[in-house]
Amino acid sequence: MNNKLYGNLIFELSRKGRCGYSLPKNRFGVYEIPQLIQRKKEPELPECDELTVVRHYTNLSGNNFGVDNGFYPLGSCTMKYNPCIDEEVAALPAFQNLHPLQPADSVRGAEAVCTLLKQSLCELTGMKAFTLRPFAGAHGELVGLMIIRAYHESRGDERRLKVIVPDSAHGTNPASAAVCGLEVVEVKSLDDGTIDTTHLRTLVEEQGEEIAAMMMTNPNTLGLFEKRIPEIAEMIHGCGGLLYYDGANFNPMLGVCRPGDMGFDVMHLNLHKTFSTPHGGGGPGAGPVGVRDGLQEFFPEVSPYHGNFAVLMRAYAYILSLGREHVKEVGPLATLNANYVKESLKDLYRLPIEGLCKHEFVFDGLADKSTGVTTMDVAKRLLDYGYHAPTIYFPLLFHESLMIEPTEVESKDTLDGFIDVMRRIAHEAVEHPNDVKTAPHHTPIGRVDDVEAAKHPIVTFKQLQYDNS
Ligand SMILES: *Cc1c(COP(=O)(O)O)cnc(C)c1O
Repeated sequence: MNNKLYGNLIFELSRKGRCGYSLPKNRFGVYEIPQLIQRKKEPELPECDELTVVRHYTNLSGNNFGVDNGFYPLGSCTMKYNPCIDEEVAALPAFQNLHPLQPADSVRGAEAVCTLLKQSLCELTGMKAFTLRPFAGAHGELVGLMIIRAYHESRGDERRLKVIVPDSAHGTNPASAAVCGLEVVEVKSLDDGTIDTTHLRTLVEEQGEEIAAMMMTNPNTLGLFEKRIPEIAEMIHGCGGLLYYDGANFNPMLGVCRPGDMGFDVMHLNLHKTFSTPHGGGGPGAGPVGVRDGLQEFFPEVSPYHGNFAVLMRAYAYILSLGREHVKEVGPLATLNANYVKESLKDLYRLPIEGLCKHEFVFDGLADKSTGVTTMDVAKRLLDYGYHAPTIYFPLLFHESLMIEPTEVESKDTLDGFIDVMRRIAHEAVEHPNDVKTAPHHTPIGRVDDVEAAKHPIVTFKQLQYDNS
């Protein structure tokens, strides 16, 4: 890689008068742009030859890290392999060239795919009906809570404006509740990481008539299966509330158990985590919402047309390519992989909660705290070895959270490679702690000062000092 070009912005490669195109003579006459909207100054666009532009962006794209070029153990976000066949299906011209305003009788095939996808999701989750329209997980949460509000209002029960959310929940849960105009009531976790049902009982006894719903993630954000769901469902239903299931990371449950059978009333799935759409760059997603029988009539209109259709296509292709028999292997394999990595590292990393995890688990930093090497340092050092960092400093239950999810699609060789590197870093932390504390050393950009970057971001080119000689 040409290092001179590496860190440069396209503006820095600009040379006055250089040009990458030539246009034919104007044969159409001049269109006069009204004075009012004409710019006062020439736009300051970079002036480059074509190859410089191509190489600049090609080299930049090579700096991108994704599941297609390396292991990506990001917990609570299920960055897994997205099979190419699903991309191909979504890109079929017959689907890709559809126009949202086409007459209904010319899109029967696309409609049929949506119907079949809804049926599959119902079967996988035990829900009665799905809407495919929400654009993301958080959007699905909002839609789910809107359904719950509409349900209570339809019964004249307008005092129910509180939502119980566990302290281990994903940040979008309380945020969605707030956007929906609901008040968040936090329920504590026990030392074993699962919901404190004694605390929950107190909340329900004191505020039961104001509880609209409880939101839950299961397996929860620590990767632990909440064993007391029947008891929790009874308490929440007993006080007149509904039970919401955050199924963003549904892979550990696929083909093993179903929220609908456990007493959940409303749920969302992230098709862009569990069902084969790449995510991470904030790209298009889909957060379908499922409900138990009787709640379908409260589906709101939240997006035009059919939601993110290409994401729905990938999900359906993914489900069909696994089929009824192989879909059952997703959950057990995700669980096996996570436990394998956890057990292979727990002598060197602090495991705050022992026992079987599901698809993911959380370490509380290195076991040996005397070196001063933090979770941030370990995460940065992993980049030197070509691995994406796990989720760090989340959940907030521990000070040095390091949350690892290998997913079901990784081979034992890949996991062994990762385990070796994690063990090596733990040894480095003792033998050469400074190497770890100053990592990364082999990436295009070294350790950034994230506080400075957040407080004084430089987002315009002009402010940069550079040597253009
Ligand atoms: C990712 C995630 C969400 C939010 O999904 P988005 O599509 O990013 O809005 C919600 N809950 C959990 C548990 C998640 O992992």
